[in-house]
Order: sequence, then structure tokens, then C-alpha cells
Amino acid sequence: MLRKTPIALLIAATLCTGAAFAGTAQPAIKVLATGGTIAGTGESAGSGAYTSARLPIDALLDAVPEAKKLARLSGEQVVQLGSQAMTPEVWLKIARRANELLASPEVDGLVITHGTDTLEETAYFLNLTLRSDKPVVLVGAMRPSTAISADGPANLYEAITLAASPQAAGKGVLVAMNDQVLDARGVTKTSTTSVATFRSPNEGPLGSVANGKVELMRTVLRTHTRTSTFDVAKLDSLPRVEIVYGYAGDNSAQIDAAVKSGAAGIVFAGVGNGNFNPAVEKALAEARQKGVAVVRSSRAGSGRVTLDGEVDDAKYGFVVADDLNPQKARVLLMLALTQTQDPQALQKLFFTY
Ligand code: ASP
Repeated sequence: MLRKTPIALLIAATLCTGAAFAGTAQPAIKVLATGGTIAGTGESAGSGAYTSARLPIDALLDAVPEAKKLARLSGEQVVQLGSQAMTPEVWLKIARRANELLASPEVDGLVITHGTDTLEETAYFLNLTLRSDKPVVLVGAMRPSTAISADGPANLYEAITLAASPQAAGKGVLVAMNDQVLDARGVTKTSTTSVATFRSPNEGPLGSVANGKVELMRTVLRTHTRTSTFDVAKLDSLPRVEIVYGYAGDNSAQIDAAVKSGAAGIVFAGVGNGNFNPAVEKALAEARQKGVAVVRSSRAGSGRVTLDGEVDDAKYGFVVADDLNPQKARVLLMLALTQTQDPQALQKLFFTY
């Protein structure tokens, strides 16, 4: 039987609360707020009309008083916007601030509140640029704070539970939504309005966070966070990458426009296995000749794009996105182009991250 020494008591408290950060009974969790529907308000509880990014961080934390039992909480408003207005400049701002905080011994983990529209892009960007093994959890809400059955407070409580858990350490950036724990690389928004919108179509969730308990059933093996080579401290801006969407009867207009406007890269959201018709093939080949990086992803929603499958990637110097969806492939290509323009080196990065 365990003797009730102070150390044994600390271990027992740690196991009970899920807080396992050496030397403290409660981890210090910083909540960075960026806006979104989780901070949204509307005139009526049931109409669906609202404005996102209204409530400040203190109001979000006041809605989950129980969370103070999980962690020593403090909040900070980094930006206040609907995530449809998110930009690469704001990604860099959030990443730099998050890295500063994560480097501090006073911070054991981060929760970042975010709009759901582009949450997956910010999550993946941070997964590639934060230099820490400490837990980082993104969270949002599908219903504004004033709605009947607003999901924000429960999601925030679960995100804090997850960030306070030693299980979340070293897994890269995580997303806590609707009782699920999802990894930044795999997660995507799949429904315009459902509270169960976030899924990882290829690998599924990492586990769950519900009723104050974290249950992770798998881990993340692709390179991320601490071992990533992308360094935001050295970046003022990111190369411009356009996404072009494929369809039956497609033509070269969008690709030509992207090249003409000076894009450094194009992610083609191809049909099926990243495919395109002859007009698009010709336009992408010409883009390559002008030095524009071309990455083939898919509009299909899941699955990997096969290198040199139906398309002769080697001939043109095209790169495949592996199983990244177009918006995630764009994030990686923007960072990858800060290191190399060589198609083989770019391909290696797409098979690493
Ligand atoms: N348009 C909102 C946003 O992304 C939607 C949400 O947060 O759920 O900020």
C-alpha cells in the first residue's frame, strides 16, 4: 500500500486531476483568444443570426468557473476576428506569441480559442511552427455564446482538461471539440453547422475528452512542433500559394490567373486521385516552367494522392500532397517554399510533415 508521504499525496493528486506537471499540483494553462463563434453573440437565442468575435477572453473564462479546479488559468486576447478573416500574418503573430509563452517555465500548456471556419489551417500551421512538447489545444464553438445549448463553454472546459493532461504533451497541436481529441494534421471541418463538424477522415480522432477525463487511443507519428524545421522567428511573411479547384469541363483560366498574379505555388484540388483534364495539365506544366511549385491534392475529402499514379509527376516536377487536404497542403507549401523550391525536396517535406 502507498504510504501517505507528501510525494505520494502529490502523485495521488496528480493522477486524480490529470495534472502531472512536475512540482505543481495544478498546471499553469494560458488561454489565448482569437475570436470566432465561441466569442460570438446574437440578439435572439434561436434565430441563427449572430456576430462572431465579440466577447473578450475574460467573459469566455467566466463561463467555465469549474475550469479553475483543473488549472491555474490566465487569459490573453491575441486578436479578435471571425476566422474567415484569418491571414498568414496573424498565423505568424499567434505562433510567435505562443512560442514565447511555451518557452516560459511559468506556462505548462496553451489553449487557443479560434473560429471554426479556418481552425484546421491555424492548427496545422502551429503544429509545424511551435517549438515545444507542452500541450497546445485549439478549441472553438459552432453556436454563439447566446444560443440555446451553446457548445462553447463545454468545449472550452474540455480543451482546458486536455491541456492540463500530461497525455497531451508531445502529440503536436491538438483540437478539442464535441468530446473528441483530434490531431492538427488530420482534422478538418466537415459540416457547415453541426456541432459534430470536426473529423479526421483518414485516421480518425486520437481519442476523447469528456466528463473531465482524457482517453487517448493513438499517437501522432508525423514530424511536428519541437522537431519541425520551420522557424517563424526568421519569417516576416510567407510565400503566396493559391488553391485551384478542379471540376468536369475545367479549363486553364484559374491557373493562368494564379501564375499571372505572381503566386509562388499552386495547390490543385484535383478530381479523384488529384487528377485533371488535358487543358489543366498543360496549364500546370507551363506554370512549372515558370518556376511555380505545383502540389496535387484532391477535392475528394479523404485518401492519399498517389505519386506518379495516373499523372506523370516526375516528368513535370509536380508534388503530391499525400493525404493533406488542399487547405492543409497550402499551409505546408507556404512554409516549405521558405526552405526550397526543388520538387524532390518539396516532396520529401510532404512525406515528412
Ligand atoms: N465564422 C465563424 C469563425 O470561423 C464560425 C465559427 O467560429 O464557428 O470565426
